[in-house]
Amino acid sequence: MRILVVEDDTPLAEVLKRGLSEDGYATDVVGKLVDATHAVSMTSYDLVILDRGLPDGDGRTLCAEMRERGDSTAVLMLTARDGLGDKVEGLDAGADDYLTKPFDYPELAARIRALLRRPAEAQKPILTYGDLEMDPASRRVSRSSITIPLTAREFALLERMLRAPEHTHARTDLLDSVWDTNYDGLSNVVDVHIANLRRKLELPGLDDPIETVRGVGYRLRPAGQDHAGQGTA
Ligand code: CA
Repeated sequence: MRILVVEDDTPLAEVLKRGLSEDGYATDVVGKLVDATHAVSMTSYDLVILDRGLPDGDGRTLCAEMRERGDSTAVLMLTARDGLGDKVEGLDAGADDYLTKPFDYPELAARIRALLRRPAEAQKPILTYGDLEMDPASRRVSRSSITIPLTAREFALLERMLRAPEHTHARTDLLDSVWDTNYDGLSNVVDVHIANLRRKLELPGLDDPIETVRGVGYRLRPAGQDHAGQGTA
């Protein structure tokens, strides 16, 4: 899951970036409307957190522009204003939700979880593939009904794969979806986290549920094709 934070208040933007990153979201931050417009045209986000009072305009403009061109990315608008008129204006511009400053991070996090569980996903809130099960709402992962604690990054990687379980995920796609645009750490960071994820998912008596696709990336092992020969009789 990838989030764009549009906020010119630097200390607040830093708090949001830290909190969202700890919660496992890839998070980009910009402080101006012009940079936000550029970012949403270049990158596919799952959610935009949009301040209204920006140095070069009203965040509402960006939201209205996105909706005009049919971009249905979830938008959570932030404002220092508290009037009913401001709230109506924000929602009229196409925002999905609205939060008045000051707010507590846990409230923002709860709103984000609710927004990212919109109708398409609400049909099937639990992700399953083979013996893997993930509940994105409670952030719980299990295999053959055994709960497996994962870090936020491991969870995000597995979620990405479970949302397109038949798909081979290129390393670059996994990197883009789970790490920030400006990530400049280890080049093998995806491999390192996949290795840790595998170690945790490989329960005694069960196969490695992740396959390496040489030269490309990773995919989930097709259901029923485990080497242990435990397929249906
Ligand atoms: Ca502002």
